[in-house]
Amino acid sequence: MPQTKRTVAIVGAGLSGAAAAVRLWDLAKELEHRGSSMPLEIHLFEASAILGGRASSRFLPEEDLLLDGAQHLTMNCCTAMLEFLRRTDLLRFWKLQTEMTFCVRSGASETAGPLRFFPFRNSASLPQPFHLLPALWGLGHLNRLERLQLLGICRQIQKSTPNSGDSFRAWMEKLGCPASVADHFFDPVILSAFSDQMENVSAGIAKTVFRRMFLETKDGWHFWIPQCPLREIFDANLTPFLERSGIRIHRQTPVRRIVPGRLLIQDTKSGLRSEFAADSVILAVPWFQAGKLLPELVSLDLFQPERFEPRTISAVHFWTDRVLFPQPNLVLPRETIQWIFRPPFGPEVPNSAHHSDGLQGPDPKLRFLPENVGPETCSPAERVRHGFYHQALLSDADRCVSAKPQALEQLVRAELQMLFPEARFLHFRTTRCPAAVFSCSTWMEHSRPTMLTPFPSIFLAGDWTATQLPATMESAVVSGNLAAEETFHFLKNLHESQ
Ligand SMILES: Cc1cc2nc3c(=O)[nH]c(=O)nc-3n(C[C@H](O)[C@H](O)[C@H](O)COP(=O)(O)OP(=O)(O)OC[C@H]3O[C@@H](n4cnc5c(N)ncnc54)[C@H](O)[C@@H]3O)c2cc1C
Repeated sequence: MPQTKRTVAIVGAGLSGAAAAVRLWDLAKELEHRGSSMPLEIHLFEASAILGGRASSRFLPEEDLLLDGAQHLTMNCCTAMLEFLRRTDLLRFWKLQTEMTFCVRSGASETAGPLRFFPFRNSASLPQPFHLLPALWGLGHLNRLERLQLLGICRQIQKSTPNSGDSFRAWMEKLGCPASVADHFFDPVILSAFSDQMENVSAGIAKTVFRRMFLETKDGWHFWIPQCPLREIFDANLTPFLERSGIRIHRQTPVRRIVPGRLLIQDTKSGLRSEFAADSVILAVPWFQAGKLLPELVSLDLFQPERFEPRTISAVHFWTDRVLFPQPNLVLPRETIQWIFRPPFGPEVPNSAHHSDGLQGPDPKLRFLPENVGPETCSPAERVRHGFYHQALLSDADRCVSAKPQALEQLVRAELQMLFPEARFLHFRTTRCPAAVFSCSTWMEHSRPTMLTPFPSIFLAGDWTATQLPATMESAVVSGNLAAEETFHFLKNLHESQ
């Protein structure tokens, strides 16, 4: 007798929705290998024309270029995300980086003078948890006393547990962390990981992140950087993988409402509404949209979307007449710009060009463009094609500068000109993503919804659900996996009871 096919509708094709689809497919295959079977039909509904959600890129016609909203990176401790990339054969588009470089201006006032670089890397000989001692001790932007204090605080972070409800700043104060160490070490680290300030971030969630990055394994903090625009990874290359697995993708098909057993969908071209029947639904949209599709979540007080505080991530993309520095990235603990990435869209710079400690000076191995390539002579598309690409990243930028991209760009331009006075800047593009992530506040510690909803056949996924992680690709994939497991369990029970 033919078996009844079960239909699952996943709403939202960001990383959480895509991960849910892949995990469901894997669970169905595992069951088949164990000699049992439950045929599944998996449908992925996406409002936009492309997959990837927030992990995506935009096409800029003037520059003839696909540009990411901002540099995405995933840490080596993000095991669910890495497994998802391996499983979908997308890890080949990512490159592991095992070193960061802290960079400050020298001179007593820190306002002028050549740049000083402090590499931050694991000691090859020291075992975990001592592997970062030399790197921490080498952070020359802190004085000797501050570095000793930093080592002491790191030890205390390892040993102690914060009180529930403490912010990271409050916890640091309790541990006796001096303000200068908090401001010039922990603040940039927290800002990069959470896109938020220490006074807002929950100490409990921060401790979880620190443990995974620095304490559990030696290389948890190493990070993976995409080698091409995100759209090429999560749309162009993920699509054929999903299609080969039989997952049906419905692009430009926004879902308007979900009720048990069906979706109300709308065709964006014709505007026509229709219904789609599904045995189970996974709602994988951002927190500010979930309540519109499933109002019961809010009316039954399962979550309070208005208490999620969005955080902006901005990036100033710029093209120069030369490679500004030989390292792949710089961390700037004393500037408004937090990171500068030299992503792989530019030329490879030989390792031997690397200055490990010293002052920046002209280096013959870093390439220069001829004088005649410039804003006066070339179109934006030509400057972008010839110039060397860099990206200045500013998490939670709205706190330090007006929300207007022009104001941010002006501030970044001035800072860049001070940092790299000899360079010519050929072209700038500023991107600002207002609800890139949400604040991991102390309120959020216990207030994120689980994958369950008031309806047994409807499940939630998304970086904002109760994963205990900050709003990241890892959180999205973990949530997708969990939602898929709940859905599969529900369908299996349904299947067996009939
Ligand atoms: C600029 C920026 C930089 C970031 N940097 C990093 C980083 O370095 N590292 C990191 O780990 N994370 C980073 N993040 C966060 C990361 O991108 C997100 O946490 C993750 O992509 C969220 O995935 P998601 O599936 O939960 O949600 P989303 O990506 O938001 O996906 C939701 C999908 O649902 C679709 N949708 C919405 N409504 C409907 C509807 N009615 N019907 C059908 N579909 C609908 C949307 O179009 C979207 O495709 C960054 C985010 C931004 C914006």
